Amino acid sequence: MTDASPATAQETLAALHRMQQDDLPVHGGRTLAYVYDSGLAEVDRVGREAVAAYAGSNGLDPAAFPSLLRMENDLVGFAARLLDAPGSVVGTVTSGGTESVLLAVQAARDARPDVARPTMVLPATAHAAFHKAAHYFGVEARLVAVGADFRADVAATEAAVDDSTVLVVASAPSYAHGVVDPVTELAALAAARGVRCHVDACIGGWVLPYAARLGRTVRPWTFAVEGVTSISVDLHKYGYAPKGTSLLLHRTPELRRPQLFASAAWPGYTMLNATLQSTRSGGPTAGAWAVVRTLGDAGYERLTADVLEAVDRIVAGLADVPALRLVVAPDSTLVALATDGTCDAFTVCDEMAARGWYVQPQMSYGEQPPTIHLSVSAATLGSVEDLLAALRDSVAAAVAAGPVVVDPGIADYIRSLDPATLSDADFDGLLAASGLVGEGGEGRDGELALPERMAEVNAMLDLASPAMREALLLTFLDRLSRPDPVWPSTG
Ligand SMILES: *Cc1c(COP(=O)(O)O)cnc(C)c1O
Repeated sequence: MTDASPATAQETLAALHRMQQDDLPVHGGRTLAYVYDSGLAEVDRVGREAVAAYAGSNGLDPAAFPSLLRMENDLVGFAARLLDAPGSVVGTVTSGGTESVLLAVQAARDARPDVARPTMVLPATAHAAFHKAAHYFGVEARLVAVGADFRADVAATEAAVDDSTVLVVASAPSYAHGVVDPVTELAALAAARGVRCHVDACIGGWVLPYAARLGRTVRPWTFAVEGVTSISVDLHKYGYAPKGTSLLLHRTPELRRPQLFASAAWPGYTMLNATLQSTRSGGPTAGAWAVVRTLGDAGYERLTADVLEAVDRIVAGLADVPALRLVVAPDSTLVALATDGTCDAFTVCDEMAARGWYVQPQMSYGEQPPTIHLSVSAATLGSVEDLLAALRDSVAAAVAAGPVVVDPGIADYIRSLDPATLSDADFDGLLAASGLVGEGGEGRDGELALPERMAEVNAMLDLASPAMREALLLTFLDRLSRPDPVWPSTG
């Protein structure tokens, strides 16, 4: 056993840079999920430098780091104007959309200690973060099927609400289909029963207000809608801020109160938190503050005009790609595409990747076939003709290849599987057959062998039940995260 030898700063940064070459690009507007690119180098620079300047600062104690408290209040104030909030509004900077959603559910639960078995009513299109909240906080998620327009079904939502309901949820817009729910009706039915209504605008909250200012039709969804009690909106999506910031706003301090936590039940400092984190890096808050300050309303309005023009041109360009259809007309910047019988969505995604474009496969859900998701960025506008050409070529290649066919015997087997009754050996065999994990061989135990092309893997996963898909991917994640016992000698 030898000690890890030190490296120079130059070597270390060069190694980081080399490793990053394997990742999806975060600039250039060709990565249409996970990252959001303004295309403005100066804005990126300001955000990065602010993160670096505050990387060591701790939002744990606002008295010790008053600049972070000030930045938080500035950001919430800016968002409050954007979201038509009343003067009573309050808010919190969180680490991301999932944390904002978790806290909205936790606050709704803890505001109702009288409800023994709390439930929340969600459109089936609500983000998976609500299922995580259900899992963490013991709030049962009651899913309501959406209408043919992929928007929440108001009557069915109303029917699902009862005395155990602590929260009604709407999306503005939904991630998978990009449409805004009928927030006015959902908030009204919640308010009539004294139930909270959370609008998840994590991905649309920084776009829709500017779209409205630009004269686009946007159905009401902000605090201007009576009965909306809280809204989540991510700065690290269409706020074009560095990763690690979202906002959760509550209409009144009383509504936020159960979200706040204090503990003096130990011998150290009294812990006092508004989020799941306690020590909280100042970097993301400063990064978001710097980007919002730099862009201002005029900057966001211009970026919104650009991204919406890109979406319009993508939608118009689909006329030349008959094998693809729009699942539903987008309400903002998210596009969902389905294929006809001549090719499959997963192969199109692989073909796009081969041409330098990342588009995100979405598995089938209920009656809906697999689809292709595009989170369009402002930076995509500059290369939208390239994107359309890549789509045409990718679809042509996918049609030429034909849809991925899973061996019918394997397909029947996968469909019949129940993760609860599967043995470990069966499971390992299936995982290997799926192509997600190699069979070990001479390398370290269970070493990963991810294929270049994912269509076959995705087609198999798509046949599995949702519970089986979850089980397979959980095992995949488990196998991925194993320590490297010899680093840093590996570089
Ligand atoms: C992205 C997203 C979330 C979760 O946000 P993270 O920042 O990935 O944790 C929640 N809801 C919607 C609608 C989203 O698009």
